[in-house]
Amino acid sequence: MGTVIQAEGLTHRYGRHVALRDVDLEVPEGALYALLGPNGAGKTTLLKILLGLLRPTAGRVTLLGKDLKRLTLRDRASIGYVAEDQRLPGWMTLSRLLAYLAPLYPTWDHGLASELQRRFHLPPGRKIRAMSRGERMKAAMMAALAPRPRLLIMDEPFTGMDALVKDELVRGLLELSGDEGWSVLLCSHDIGELEALADWVGFLDAGRLILSEPMEVLRGRFKRVEVMMNGGPFVALEELPPDWLSVDRAGKRATFLIPDHGTDSGQDEVHRRFPGAARVEVRGASLREVFVGLAREGLGRDSVEEETS
Ligand code: ATP
Repeated sequence: MGTVIQAEGLTHRYGRHVALRDVDLEVPEGALYALLGPNGAGKTTLLKILLGLLRPTAGRVTLLGKDLKRLTLRDRASIGYVAEDQRLPGWMTLSRLLAYLAPLYPTWDHGLASELQRRFHLPPGRKIRAMSRGERMKAAMMAALAPRPRLLIMDEPFTGMDALVKDELVRGLLELSGDEGWSVLLCSHDIGELEALADWVGFLDAGRLILSEPMEVLRGRFKRVEVMMNGGPFVALEELPPDWLSVDRAGKRATFLIPDHGTDSGQDEVHRRFPGAARVEVRGASLREVFVGLAREGLGRDSVEEETS
C-alpha cells in the first residue's frame, strides 16, 4: 500500500516560537488518521502546511506521491479540506454554493451531494450566514465530500455538531472510506469520535510527533490499573516506575496506566508494589486515557525542560 502524505524533517517557526520540530509523518493510503495533541501542540500548523496555506521553515512534504511544491490545480482539487474557522460565502444559499462549486471539480458527484444534504438535514434555500455553527460545518463538509476527494484533511470537523449528527458523520465517513478507499487526516479534541473512526493515530506534543502508529497497536500498548487499598500504609506514588502514566490517588483508590509488554510482568510489578491491596483491576486503556497520560507526561517533560534550560 502507498503513502498519501509523507513529511520529512518538517519544522515551522512563528517568529521565535517553534510550532513544529523536525516532524516525520507518514499517512498510509486508505487510512483514517487521527492527529491528537494538547492545545497549541502544532496540529493546525501541520495541516495548514500540508494544504499549502503555510510554508514550512524547513522540511519536505510529498502529497499523493508528488512534492508539495509541484502539485497542480487538478491535484489540489482532489484534496478536500474542512476546518472549524473555514470561511464560506455567507450571502449564498446552500444550493447556490453547490451550483458554484460543482463545475470547478471534474469529479463532483451530484448524487453524493444530494445524499449528504438529506443526511445532514440542511435546508437548501437558507443563506449560509443564517445557518447555525453546526449547520455551517455540515455545509462545509458537504462541499468537501461531494468532489470525492482522494485525500480529505479535516481540522476539528465535529465542532458544533450534535451527538446524532456526529455519529452519522462518523458512520458515513467509515462507509465511504471503506467503499472508496479514501484517505483521511483529521485532528479533533473529540476523542470519543476519533476512537470510533480512526485506524491510525499520531500524537503531537509541543511540536514533536512523539508517536505515529495503527490504533490497534496503540490500544495494546497500555493497560489501565485500579488498585483499592485495604487501609494500612499507602505506597508513595512518586516512587512508582517512571513509565507508569497518569498516576492518581483518591482516598484508598489509586489509578494509573502501565505499559503492556504482552507478559504478566507489569501486573506482577503492580502486586509487588501494592502488597496490601484489597483489589487490583486491570483492563485495556481507552484512547482518552492514553491521550491524557501522554499529554500529562508531556507537561511534566516541558516543566523539566524549562527548569533546566
Ligand atoms: P489547538 O488544539 O489549540 O487548536 P494546535 O495543536 O492546532 O492547537 P497550532 O494552532 O498549530 O496548535 O499552534 C501551535 C503553536 O503555534 C501554539 O503555541 C500557537 O500559539 C502558535 N501559533 C499559531 N499560529 C501562530 C501565529 N500566527 N503566530 C504566532 N504563533 C502562532
